[in-house]
Amino acid sequence: MKKRILITGGAGFIGSHLCRRLLDEGNEVISLDNYFTGSKENIAPLLSNPYFEAIRHDVTMPYFIEVDEIYNLACPASPIHYQFNAIKTVKTSVMGAINMLGLAKRLNIKILQASTSEVYGDPIIHPQTESYWGNVNPIGIRSCYDEGKRCAETLFMDYHRMNDVKIKIIRIFNTYGPNMHPNDGRVVSNFIIQALNNQDITFYGDGSQTRSFQYVDDLIDGMIKMMESPVETIGPINMGNPNEFSIRELAERVIALTGSKSKIIFQPLPSDDPKQRKPDIDLAKAKLNWEPKIQLEEGLIKTIAYFKSIM
Ligand code: NAD
Ligand code: UDP
Repeated sequence: MKKRILITGGAGFIGSHLCRRLLDEGNEVISLDNYFTGSKENIAPLLSNPYFEAIRHDVTMPYFIEVDEIYNLACPASPIHYQFNAIKTVKTSVMGAINMLGLAKRLNIKILQASTSEVYGDPIIHPQTESYWGNVNPIGIRSCYDEGKRCAETLFMDYHRMNDVKIKIIRIFNTYGPNMHPNDGRVVSNFIIQALNNQDITFYGDGSQTRSFQYVDDLIDGMIKMMESPVETIGPINMGNPNEFSIRELAERVIALTGSKSKIIFQPLPSDDPKQRKPDIDLAKAKLNWEPKIQLEEGLIKTIAYFKSIM
């Protein structure tokens, strides 16, 4: 059955993939975006589809529309972007959640929150399970994002407990793929662009910190499975690829796959940068029968091809 689906942040990296997939599955899709970090290029190929609509709107302001489901993705996601206007980042997470939850309540529809592994901060428990409450500095330079997202989770749970809103919370771990913003400073895009240009590869710190990188197509599968799961499956549920790599290992793979002559240089580690991150995905496996299929090398090959095509 064709659904009408609202995606906030639909012109962003993940949002644009989600728009495309939901359209391909025969739905009507409306993207709500203020284009702070998203771009019209990301959604340009969708504009010829009569079932796609792109609306310029800032989610800190209420928005009313008749839809069947909401995916709430609007929020800058990379450190340089979310720190650019830290107060606005908090407003986007918190007021955006309130406005979209209010809409879901009025319409009595499902709403999915794109939360983040950053709610675990610099984690002491490894790998991170959903029952871990995290280790977040509430006054640091990452806290506008981390605490904004934590407060959004609180709001989702309270709208559920108080108003029976049908909520779904997923905690997304580092995701990469085509349509990533080339200048958002994230490690995968930085390293690929540096390698393709034979420029120095920038290690923040000594490169021993770890991340677990998920290819975007796997995430999209998981997001849709979560939305379609039984109403009692509210989460939070981790969504990430549990294969963990040091930043050094990532650089070695990117250099090998691009045949680059780049050298490594060392720059200071930003404050509160998590030392390790790896999702425990047992809950996603059990509740959604979901696990990622695309491993790092395959995903990097596709992402390198994308960056080559836009350079
Ligand atoms: P992105 O920056 O590419 O996309 C975010 C989108 O939200 C952009 O299109 C941006 O213009 C829009 N936006 C920002 N503020 C807005 C506002 N006030 N009103 C309307 N639109 C606004 O980032 P992404 O990587 O696609 O992330 C999407 C979501 O997934 C975010 O909520 C992010 O926190 C979450 N997430 C992403 C990752 C990741 O690795 N990419 C990891 C964890 C969580
Ligand atoms: N990083 C790095 N060089 C870069 C960009 C990032 O060494 O050019 C490091 C960064 O310090 C962090 C990791 O790579 O430890 C992942 O950074 P990213 O911004 O991609 O994601 P997040 O820190 O939000 O997980």
